[in-house]
Amino acid sequence: MTPATLAASSATASSAVSLQTPGVTRLLARALRLSCPHCGGRGIFQSFFALRATCPSCGLRLERGESDYFVGAYLFNLIAVELILFFCVCGFVWFTWPNPPWDAITYITGFLMLAGCLLCYPFAKTTWLAVDLAIRPLTAEELAWHREGGEMGERELPHL
Ligand SMILES: [Zn+2]
Repeated sequence: MTPATLAASSATASSAVSLQTPGVTRLLARALRLSCPHCGGRGIFQSFFALRATCPSCGLRLERGESDYFVGAYLFNLIAVELILFFCVCGFVWFTWPNPPWDAITYITGFLMLAGCLLCYPFAKTTWLAVDLAIRPLTAEELAWHREGGEMGERELPHL
């Protein structure tokens, strides 16, 4: 086997491995570690709130070619904040019954909702990407499109 064919077969194997869609549990675990749900690569955030355009490990465009892609992430963030509110209010009332301090509950849960909104934001984005990858697994054609890079311009995302 020549070095060229060895490199070609290695590249083919690498592509095949990178196209295997991880299970939902693995996708979500990677998302909760703020890693790329597709490959598990780190460094997909420029800052706590800003995603890079592409995954530095696998080349996946993190918005999957759609400008309004993360609207779903906002929904996930809203759900997380509402769950924080629900469990905090229930917990405070449970532990302080029969005389719950309603004013304190109002201020503390308001603060926790605001803090949760900020802290959950990056997790909501990676979780949304993980759920999307579980529902619409990455195809070889789409990954090649992501790896081409450059501006999206008029180019269409290859759909299934
Ligand atoms: Zn990746």
